[in-house]
Amino acid sequence: MSESFVFYQGKIVKEDDVKISVRSKAFNYGLGVFEGIRAYWDDENEQLYGFKLKEHYDRLKQSAKTVNLEFDLTVDELIQGTVDLLKANNCRTTTYVRPIVYNDALDIGPTLDGKDAKVVIYTQPLNKYAGKPELSVGVTSWKRISNNQLPPRTKATAAYMNSALAALETKRAGFDEAIFLTDGDHVCEGSGENIFMFKKGKLVTPPPSDNILEGITRDLVMKLAKEEMGLEVEERSISRSELYVADEVFFSGTAMEVTPIVEVDHREIGTGHEGEVCKQIKSLFFGLTLGQNPKYAESCTPVYDK
Ligand code: PMP
Repeated sequence: MSESFVFYQGKIVKEDDVKISVRSKAFNYGLGVFEGIRAYWDDENEQLYGFKLKEHYDRLKQSAKTVNLEFDLTVDELIQGTVDLLKANNCRTTTYVRPIVYNDALDIGPTLDGKDAKVVIYTQPLNKYAGKPELSVGVTSWKRISNNQLPPRTKATAAYMNSALAALETKRAGFDEAIFLTDGDHVCEGSGENIFMFKKGKLVTPPPSDNILEGITRDLVMKLAKEEMGLEVEERSISRSELYVADEVFFSGTAMEVTPIVEVDHREIGTGHEGEVCKQIKSLFFGLTLGQNPKYAESCTPVYDK
């Protein structure tokens, strides 16, 4: 295997040269925030496109600010660092990019005093994340963390214990993924993706006040539905049983992309197969990840010089 590089503290260095202590607060208490980004490979033109880099790094800065882990690198420097890293690793397939900002102090105690935050970015080939093209999901008994517990709009590493518990429970019960409810029993999101429902000609998705991560794919799906398909899009609370009688339900997320849900709690959704709205949104989505759609070209940052 060829040598792998990471972006660490503003520089591209060998992955093996970056060490994290067993004493690090990031390891002991999960004191970090992170992002999940995709870079899409265009085989025909032998080009790789970082997707929505600005949006992801804006969110990373906001997550870091919220939990007092601020750092000096600007969004432009993080974007450039990502391009340099993808080049250094000679990524020539669709790739996941994982930036992490973490508290690397070594003393005992879960403190967030803003000091010692480090920034690392690594890359990982990732084609499809969903194990199947159509998903069967179940509502988990674990409730989604709320804004006054661990702000869900920050992508905090510690929050993923909540996600992992939900995924564990629903996978053991035979489902492909989990759907969280809020403390108030509104539909929230999946363990790592936002959720949409299509019913009576309208696309509906939970609002940020229902403790979702404000997904970058979610924003794009709403924009595509409104501007390219002329659909009415509503952000409002959804109750669990509304999903059962929806015409379509689907997930959106960087890893999950746009993936249809055909069963919720063993109730078949719509026809029991991917619906037309999901299919169209998926096709619009994949139609712009390689910079092919001029209106959305700025979503795609070319990596290799041409
Ligand atoms: N919710 C959660 C909990 C997530 O981890 C993710 C993945 N980042 C999403 C939603 C989807 O967000 P995005 O579209 O920005 O990847």
